[in-house]
Amino acid sequence: MRIRFGAGESRCLADELDDLGWQRAVIICSPGRADLGRTIAGTLEPRCAGVIAEAVEHVPTAVVDHAVAGINSLGADSCIAVGGGSAIGLAKAVALARGTPLAAVPTTFAGSEMTPVWGTTTGGHKTTGRDLRVLPRSVVYDPELVAGLPVPVAVTSGMNAMAHAVEALYAPDTTPIVSLMAEEGIRALGGALPRIVHDPGDPDGRSDALYGAWLCGACLGATSMSLHHKLCHVLGGTLGLPHAPTHAVILPHVLAFNLVAVPEQVAIVARALGGGADPAMLLWEFAAHVQAPRSLQSLGMNEDDIDRVATEVTAASYGNPRPATVDDIRGLLRAAWEGTPPQS
Ligand code: NAD
Repeated sequence: MRIRFGAGESRCLADELDDLGWQRAVIICSPGRADLGRTIAGTLEPRCAGVIAEAVEHVPTAVVDHAVAGINSLGADSCIAVGGGSAIGLAKAVALARGTPLAAVPTTFAGSEMTPVWGTTTGGHKTTGRDLRVLPRSVVYDPELVAGLPVPVAVTSGMNAMAHAVEALYAPDTTPIVSLMAEEGIRALGGALPRIVHDPGDPDGRSDALYGAWLCGACLGATSMSLHHKLCHVLGGTLGLPHAPTHAVILPHVLAFNLVAVPEQVAIVARALGGGADPAMLLWEFAAHVQAPRSLQSLGMNEDDIDRVATEVTAASYGNPRPATVDDIRGLLRAAWEGTPPQS
């Protein structure tokens, strides 16, 4: 996997195509990033086959089918995903369906660009998997592209990235190298997100957050995720809750639940955030400090859905350092729904 990191690097994508040996690339982005997609397409002329600005959250299979048909008619040999996890997710689904290799130019901190994980949604059910064919061959991190990321999106997608690092710390397949990356990623985002909130125009805060997102995304790509990701997966796929804000709400509660099973690993989170007796409370207070949402109710979840999600999550198979019963998950979800402090 090739990585470029630096302000203005996205203007060098034509060199990247040369190095990868690709002839004609299609740009994939969300409708909101269409202007950026066209700007990047302009830097690739005449080697850009077109711009498909159709990516939406949770990668519906109907959108994948439409994108594959579009790429077939445009005659591209590669995709460049420009945007957040939704754009990268669509390019990954195309890679899986059509065998088209991809590069990624991330514009949020979600971290999908560093992983071989794909996900698609059909009829309210989200399916995910791992496949090396969807791992971007090249990632270009350009801090200039996150300069305009609205503060609420920056904050929640940064907390989404922190969740990857937190669960990597206690993953069954974690390694000492992953732990180092996770701690540094949490530290970078823990320092950068308050700076973005305090001074949205500070380029260093944005650049540091992108660096943290890179590390946290690498942790996600290298390990298996646990209860936190399973909960967010069901809340997003089944109820349609927004991905990054859901991560921001759930993370302190899962950390509190897992604390007794993996106290040393969870203590690393506290150390990365500057120290404190209770890492879950520290994270919960951090969420308030960066003005992230702290209740599922505020994201539009109905109280009646707590039982449904608890049952679905309990029935699913996933690893977690502490086994969770349906009552455990119901209690955790209720606290997260109400927005009360996490119960360690
Ligand atoms: P997103 O890609 O849906 O983007 C959120 C919104 O922000 C969109 O409207 C987008 O147009 C806008 N946006 C993006 N970049 C912007 C910028 N620089 N300036 C202004 N607006 C911008 O959100 P996300 O949180 O990046 O990604 C969420 C999706 O990614 C979910 O579907 C999730 O499942 C997936 N995901 C996958 C992985 C993986 O490894 N497969 C990892 C993390 C997230």
